[in-house]
Amino acid sequence: MGPVLLSAEGKVPVTSAGYETVDGVLHADRVPLPAIAAAVGTPSYVYSANTIRERFRRLDEAFAGIPHHIHFAVKANSNLHVLRVLRSLGAGVDIVSGGELYRALEAGFSGGDVVFSGVGKTVEEIAQALDAGVQLINVESEAEVVVIDMVAGQKGVKAPIAIRVNPEVTVETPHEYIKTGEKGQKFGIPRDDVSRLVDCILDLPNVELRGLGMHLGSQIGNADPLRDALPRLLSAIAYARQAGHPIAFMDVGGGLSVPYEAHEMPADIDDYARVVRAAAQETGLTLLLEPGRYLVAESGVLLTSVLYRKHAAGKDFVVTDAGMSDLIRPALYHAYHGIEAVTATSGTITADVVGPICESGDFFAKARTLPDVKAGDLLAVRTAGAYGFTMASNYNSRPRPAEVLVDGDQFAIAGAREQLDDLVRLERAPLQWRPA
Ligand SMILES: *Cc1c(COP(=O)(O)O)cnc(C)c1O
Repeated sequence: MGPVLLSAEGKVPVTSAGYETVDGVLHADRVPLPAIAAAVGTPSYVYSANTIRERFRRLDEAFAGIPHHIHFAVKANSNLHVLRVLRSLGAGVDIVSGGELYRALEAGFSGGDVVFSGVGKTVEEIAQALDAGVQLINVESEAEVVVIDMVAGQKGVKAPIAIRVNPEVTVETPHEYIKTGEKGQKFGIPRDDVSRLVDCILDLPNVELRGLGMHLGSQIGNADPLRDALPRLLSAIAYARQAGHPIAFMDVGGGLSVPYEAHEMPADIDDYARVVRAAAQETGLTLLLEPGRYLVAESGVLLTSVLYRKHAAGKDFVVTDAGMSDLIRPALYHAYHGIEAVTATSGTITADVVGPICESGDFFAKARTLPDVKAGDLLAVRTAGAYGFTMASNYNSRPRPAEVLVDGDQFAIAGAREQLDDLVRLERAPLQWRPA
């Protein structure tokens, strides 16, 4: 939490960052959420700029004194205005597609701020990245390096690349879909194959091996998997340097966890930093970090209205105007999100909180104890700033929600709500049949 400030009335202490209930009303920074719902409607994502700033500074300060750069993983939250908040703090970006590159440049980042990750880059995306002058392309297969060499050769440039090593360590994550650094995953170069790739790159004239990195997965709460993985990364770095490559960067990826449930602990940033700093110092290289979730998850809520209460088959249901098309994490990962009534309500119920979509996977919570809300009340689905809007879809032909940025005592629409026309605009043109 940030410094305690006084609200306009000068009486009620309100923190300047994050979510807090004041006089029975949940606020984002110093903005009451009902004011946002009244102005922008629901469902809407709300992001606290001050929370993002706090998380960035916390992590950045933990690495003070050693050369490092934080590259925000754009896939967690790619809103242009969120990207601009991070850019103004000095962040770079980690991207995984040409679309994310386009967004990053649109947000004002330059190519030199960009690290391009991802297991399946197309020739077009590689060309786009080279045109933008990205700092590094993280490569994940020998075949990919050959394609990068070819595209760079056609352009007459030398492509700066880094090898993503799969250190093949055991990673404890809450869902198997968010593990990436274990044996048998599609990600990275298996550690036993790294030396062969390092040797092979020496023969390619249009690529330059500038770094080695890894990304172990998501929701990693302590430094244990890094303790196992870093020595493997360091030995790959030593091999590449000995082979004569101009290595300048060591990338430890992202994956820092955030607490979603009340009993969960925040990531131990100091322990993480201690372990990573020691390894980085041993190499003398510039350290790159790629956090996504840590920087933005807690900054966000999904603001939704209760449409109906329903009692069926001995259960209570709260039906909301947001659904899995807006926030898919519970359906996809069985993820937990805290849910709060925005305005204090007396009494509690135990209910399933469900969306309007025709899928039984369309729920936000099962058998959750909640305030006794009624139709028209507002709920805040917490910790929704990461992998929320970026995974939203138009399933059931639902326009995607609005996005709102809060900064202290003011708020602004950071992404307009999609309109019905947006749903059909790309299909309107009459069919132009072509002969087979
Ligand atoms: C997804 C991803 C990240 C960010 O992961 P978080 O868990 O959001 O921190 C970082 N690097 C790479 C390569 C990724 O794919």
